[in-house]
Amino acid sequence: MVQLLKILKEKGVLGIDQASLDRKKKGGASVYEGDGARIYKRSMYLRGGVLHFLARIDGVKSLILVSQEPIDTEFIGQRSEVEGVYFFSAELTVENSRVLHRTFPFSEPISLREKRTTIGCGDRLGLATPGQLRAVARYDVYPVFAQQSVRELTLTGRTFPEVVKDATFLVFQEGFERGYGADGDHLKSIADIDTALEAGMRMITLDLTDVMKPEPASWSPEMVESEFEKLDDNVAQHALSKYSKKIFKLAGSTINFDELEVKRCVLMYWHALEFTKEVDQHLKDKRGDQYDLEVSIDETTAPTLPSHHLFIASELQLRGVAVNSLAPRFIGEFQKGIDYIGKVAEFDEQFKVHCDISRAYGNYKVSVHSGSDKFSVYPSVGKYTEHRLHLKTAGTSWLEALRVVAQTNAPLFRTILKKAYEYFPEATKLYQVTTDLSAIRPASEVEDQALPDYLDDNNARQLLHITYGGLLNDSDVREEFFRTLNEREEEHYAAVERHIGKHLELLGVPAK
Ligand code: ZN
Repeated sequence: MVQLLKILKEKGVLGIDQASLDRKKKGGASVYEGDGARIYKRSMYLRGGVLHFLARIDGVKSLILVSQEPIDTEFIGQRSEVEGVYFFSAELTVENSRVLHRTFPFSEPISLREKRTTIGCGDRLGLATPGQLRAVARYDVYPVFAQQSVRELTLTGRTFPEVVKDATFLVFQEGFERGYGADGDHLKSIADIDTALEAGMRMITLDLTDVMKPEPASWSPEMVESEFEKLDDNVAQHALSKYSKKIFKLAGSTINFDELEVKRCVLMYWHALEFTKEVDQHLKDKRGDQYDLEVSIDETTAPTLPSHHLFIASELQLRGVAVNSLAPRFIGEFQKGIDYIGKVAEFDEQFKVHCDISRAYGNYKVSVHSGSDKFSVYPSVGKYTEHRLHLKTAGTSWLEALRVVAQTNAPLFRTILKKAYEYFPEATKLYQVTTDLSAIRPASEVEDQALPDYLDDNNARQLLHITYGGLLNDSDVREEFFRTLNEREEEHYAAVERHIGKHLELLGVPAK
């Protein structure tokens, strides 16, 4: 605390009011530094006469409270006194993050249901949020910072409460008061949804993969007919009378169904639709209207046909389910960490129709998954959604973290690259990629200063993108990796900010 007191006195922070603190936050570096201590300026807030801020002392980040009077607080931590000044130091625990939510409500995730444009910024490391946030702050968009799937949690050894906790403290670190969301991503069961809700997730991405039936899409007409025969009469009657041989006129397109396609839709989606209704009711019971339900049907091999999207949207509306966003599987390839693969004109044509459907059936947001780095389609995505959009990005900040390692710690980056090849076969069981490992330049031929080029090579990007689980749990990597990023904190934030900023700019999101 002696180092902190010295900085606080030097910078004239003690005993001043919030307006003066706010002036100090503007301009200059984002931190005050000295003697192995770092104060995150933008986190300086007064509450009840007590100064609160985040600081890093000898490599460890904590929440610090300072006052000229003895401190009364709900946080759990250590008290001390230096030269008549009272200090309280609180560890960045889940418990303390909940006290922070009560003390500074902007640090708690909120529902973004009413917000037009949202961007999901997954942060596998629990370190990237300030960089993402600095990009987001420049645009008229609301971020979803705590966003992890069960797959990511398993691979990184984190939990939903820890993910929310990390986002909470990093939002506080930057003094970001606009509000942000938290997404329990790609959840498939009510049990997992409950775990996410308990942790403070306000957005639930319901992944229908396991309850949809993809097979009927390729069944013969006879097979479809015979399975359809077995359905409940009411279901069959309803579907045929509502959709068969009907024409649906949308703003810029027309969709019609023949009888066989209606039958396919019922066989493929009916059960999933009923399950979605059950989940929505469950969310209503638990959270009133303070939740954002996203329905995801993107984890399939075949693109979602516009007629199928319409069937799903219309049936959800009939069931009284107001989805906040829906993620179809778009035409072309949305592979992790690299640009769109496919014909942009073809994408545009179908994407437009998906947007028309969303506007006609409840005006929900179109959600684009695996949305990082799809630079060639962003202009269309921005244009056709008119920014009524949720863009979900995940592992891209991890690649930017690796870029910083490549730039600043060549030996570690070489270890990471070597190990990534070892973890690759296992990782491809979980992630679909078309990586050509033989096209990646062997590291022995690459000079240190050219190592960052790997992060601009599609094959190397995918290799590194999907092997994060193995790498982050590798004892030759883990500790050194986090140490490097903590030392190079500002460079890390800058790299992530640049990268996310490019996404928002190409989408044409208005500046703030
Ligand atoms: Zn997805």
